[in-house]
Amino acid sequence: MPGLLHTLIVEDSENDALLLVRALREGGYEPEFARVDTREAMRAELGRKNWDIVFADFTMPRFNAFEALQLLHETEIDLPFIIVSGTIGEDRAVQAMKAGAHDYILKDNMKRLLPAVERELREARNRRERKQAEQTIHRMAFYDMLTDLPNRGNFRNQAQQAIQAGIREERLVAMLMMDLRRFKEVNDTLGHRCGDQLLQQVGARLRAAMFPNDSVARLGGDEFGILLPRMAAMDDIEIVARKILNTLEAPFVIEGIPIVVETSLGAVVAPEHGTDADILLQHADVAMYLARETGASYALYDPARDPHNPRRLALMAELRHAIENNQLQLHYQPKIEFATGGTIGAEALLRWRHPKTGVIPPDQFIRFAENTGLIRPLTDWVLSAGMRQCSSLLSNGAMQHVAFNVSARSLHDLRFPNMVDKLLKASGFPPEKLMLEVTESAFMVDLQRTVETLAVLNHMGIQISIDDFGTGFSSLNYIKKLPVNEIKIDKSFVIDMSSNENDLSIVRSIIDLGHNLGLKVVAEGVETKETLDLLGTFGCDQAQGFFIGKPRPYEQLQDWLATSSWQPARR
Ligand code: C2E
Ligand code: CA
Ligand code: CA
Repeated sequence: MPGLLHTLIVEDSENDALLLVRALREGGYEPEFARVDTREAMRAELGRKNWDIVFADFTMPRFNAFEALQLLHETEIDLPFIIVSGTIGEDRAVQAMKAGAHDYILKDNMKRLLPAVERELREARNRRERKQAEQTIHRMAFYDMLTDLPNRGNFRNQAQQAIQAGIREERLVAMLMMDLRRFKEVNDTLGHRCGDQLLQQVGARLRAAMFPNDSVARLGGDEFGILLPRMAAMDDIEIVARKILNTLEAPFVIEGIPIVVETSLGAVVAPEHGTDADILLQHADVAMYLARETGASYALYDPARDPHNPRRLALMAELRHAIENNQLQLHYQPKIEFATGGTIGAEALLRWRHPKTGVIPPDQFIRFAENTGLIRPLTDWVLSAGMRQCSSLLSNGAMQHVAFNVSARSLHDLRFPNMVDKLLKASGFPPEKLMLEVTESAFMVDLQRTVETLAVLNHMGIQISIDDFGTGFSSLNYIKKLPVNEIKIDKSFVIDMSSNENDLSIVRSIIDLGHNLGLKVVAEGVETKETLDLLGTFGCDQAQGFFIGKPRPYEQLQDWLATSSWQPARR
């Protein structure tokens, strides 16, 4: 779209510069230009303002196009660079393009000018947007977007480094974990927006209260982590905990409403309670849990009270019983693709139908299963039940794939690919129709092994999806190297994207970035038509969410497939 064009002309002839300006004007541009013919002058102009485009003569008495390109390169300014010159031999033109020129135009063939300008401006815009998206995603990989604090992965790495330095220098390192009591109530009664504001304010207050060397992170949900890389004495931890509690004592004012938060604070100290960041996180979690259970605002980790306790053992026995006695059930949530507007597959989601307490959602027992080793029989059950159920829907073309969630634990288990292979063979389920959704946490804990396992699975023909993308740590650097087929944008960004600009731009960036890496991009958590339409215009490939269809048992999935308006994309 022609318009004001900040044009830098590297040219010794005033006349030729004016001819160029005139040609641009005729094309509808409004060039605001400067002419330079030395390196010094060009450097000064580059520093003076932001240019849109550079035109350069090939050779001038005191300067040439190569030197001009070199200068741009040095100053790291990325501008469309078009050589406008009298005859320049083909070989030299090619040389110039190799050196970074985007096009060259002969002075007696100016009709090529405008199309070239238009194209190069567009390309430059694309390059800029891509770069911005990459920066956004890079930030997302290490920071929590809501509070601007480091995220869990980042915190864990900082902790690991601090622990190692602490061991070397014989210093204590403390870690505190904190969550807000009744945060869910705030969310439910005042709405997500207020909940988000509260988290932001809590984060800001914590950050301000701690020393600059201490790290304050948002670990997820209403959970915060605080790391003290150097603590003088064991007793100091109590003082720090008091300070944190005092800091949070005054009410937070959210949209005019004063809110008093109560917290549970758990603390661990390295090397006393462990010398590994994951162990410390786990123990801090236990201490926090202890604080909550006992009604204390603060608890220091106490190995004697670690909940390999009766309650936990009872739950474990119950879960094992559930696996063996058919209390588990899979629900399936349809996934549609934009290209055809039809159903493409479904995600299997686990439910525990507890005879006394009713249906227990997976969030409440998966983590537990992971920590107790029950995850293996659980995953085994999920995959075999799902493969058995869905085989016929795949062979009659009603769906193209079924996706299963796989814990990080399973990806660290060397026997996992073998187990999958056995199940595939036993059920006759085609491997290329099996999709495994893995979260970024798997890479955080053991990158190498996860990559190895994924490579084996991918080699078997299985598709891999990165679930909850945007909430974890895995940077795109990893993803580039991984045998991965799709990324699934976390629902926390999708749910409100039609009203939240920040979310909207994150979603758009992820879509662009995924496509740049050659991956399919799926959005989950699509709750409205508006969101679905927006995703379509952004070029998202597939979608899943309550607006399209809720998770439902197998029989109801069959009904849904037969009657829904998202008729399967047959191929
Ligand atoms: P997930 O993989 O992110 O699954 C998507 C969750 O979002 C599901 O919750 C689904 O019911 C919910 N959801 C779907 N559409 C919408 C929507 O439009 N709006 C909103 N607000 N939510 C939507 P669910 O079934 O409670 O599962 C929770 C998590 O438990 C899953 O998150 C997954 O991480 C885990 N999970 C579920 N089944 C399994 C399993 O078989 N194995 C393992 N390891 N984890 C599982
Ligand atoms: Ca999932
Ligand atoms: Ca997800």
